[in-house]
Amino acid sequence: MKLSSKNLNERLDTVYDAIVVGGGMGGLSAAIYLARYGLKCLIVEKGKGRSLWMQDLRNYVGLDPTTPGRDILNHGTKTAVDWGADHLRGYVEEVVDEGETFAVKVKVGKTNSIYPIFRSKYLIAASGIIDNLPQLEDMQNVYDYAGYTLHVCMICDGFDMWDQKAVLIANTEGQIGAAFVLNWFTPYISVLTHGLCEVSDKTKQKLAEHGYPLYEAPIAKFHGENHQLSGVELTDGTIVEATTGLVGMGSIYHNQYLKGIEGLEYDGQNLVTNDMCKTSHDRIFALGDLKRGLNQVSIAVADGTLAATQIWRNIRRASPPRKWEE
Ligand code: FAD
Ligand code: FAD
Ligand code: FAD
Repeated sequence: MKLSSKNLNERLDTVYDAIVVGGGMGGLSAAIYLARYGLKCLIVEKGKGRSLWMQDLRNYVGLDPTTPGRDILNHGTKTAVDWGADHLRGYVEEVVDEGETFAVKVKVGKTNSIYPIFRSKYLIAASGIIDNLPQLEDMQNVYDYAGYTLHVCMICDGFDMWDQKAVLIANTEGQIGAAFVLNWFTPYISVLTHGLCEVSDKTKQKLAEHGYPLYEAPIAKFHGENHQLSGVELTDGTIVEATTGLVGMGSIYHNQYLKGIEGLEYDGQNLVTNDMCKTSHDRIFALGDLKRGLNQVSIAVADGTLAATQIWRNIRRASPPRKWEE
């Protein structure tokens, strides 16, 4: 059932088998499996997540490589709800471990918000990440290209950059290292720091040896039309010619609501999980971009399958057998 501020009161006494934080690629897969195992689950999705900005999913078997993330979100949400999952538009603010259950506090409505608390036996953290983008006064100018010809994922879109003039936008010296991976796809790389980091002589020398120009002035504006990049104008007036680009500026991890949970093991900001996507907490699973591993739709979808199946096993094994009784 689709929940909203109007009907969510009906579910405040429910103890869900699982609450899925984030209805993106992994969360929807988990919810579809949970629902088909006959388990009660609630998906909470804030909106404006990473897969919504994916203009085309290039490498998922069986799907046309022009399939946009928003279509998968709509389709997957409908499928999950049709099989019996609950779905709520809202932002998970906090999760408290009560022992047998989790108390999940959700902010519903960006204005005149209400803060219902839902309960579940298991929690699936499927809230993903979001890429940092260069901040310009006119963000619409960035959004006109980001996710189209200004990419954020080399595994996804390196192929679409093949032998083109490309900018790599990096905000740390470490991120500049991506140039030496991107050169698998194209050697025509200009590195832009947007004025955000100092570059050591060693890195400058390595870039020079490869013939990759470095521009340290901040970006003023992206040029192009119809989402097709043609160049980048810097604040010092330089125009760097490029028909494509890669933003390598790190990401924000959507894990704030887990901060109160003790003993969760992280690798950097990624949650560490076992081969069924269970974290170091027995009742918390983590999927997709939030956990350690490749950031790909195929992985997130498979993770949802694994987590839901392990939760089903746990609940089924603890349940009395169903006997054929008249
Ligand atoms: P998501 O799909 O991002 O889902 C997480 C969801 O959680 C989001 O919808 C978000 O709104 C929600 N959320 C976050 N915090 C909260 C909260 N506190 N409360 C409630 N909800 C919350 N991958 C490929 O395999 N192939 C590609 O071609 C490809 N191209 C890409 C192109 C672009 C431009 C981008 C940005 C990504 C691309 N990706 C691609 C990567 C792909 O989008 C991710 O790997 C995938 O979506 C990860 O799935 P996920 O379930 O972990 O996260
Ligand atoms: P969020 O972090 O989602 O939310 C901020 C706060 O609002 C939260 O802390 C919470 O308190 C509250 N909140 C959020 N959702 C809810 C809810 N459902 N109910 C109650 N409270 C809530 N953004 C665009 O706007 N346009 C674009 O064209 C665009 N293109 C992008 C392209 C790419 C490749 C990438 C990576 C990102 C793009 N973005 C775009 C995303 C942009 O960078 C932000 O991440 C996104 O807009 C964040 O949304 P938000 O302001 O709601 O922040
Ligand atoms: P396959 O997709 O079987 O591919 C292996 C291929 O290798 C075959 O095409 C075979 O012909 C070929 N091959 C084998 N030996 C050789 C050889 N020596 N030389 C050359 N080729 C060879 N899964 C789901 O997720 N959801 C479902 O709803 C679902 N329903 C199913 C319903 C049915 C009736 C069946 C039979 C399966 C279903 N499955 C479902 C399971 C799903 O089909 C498999 O898990 C999936 O296909 C496994 O992928 P695979 O690549 O390992 O094997």
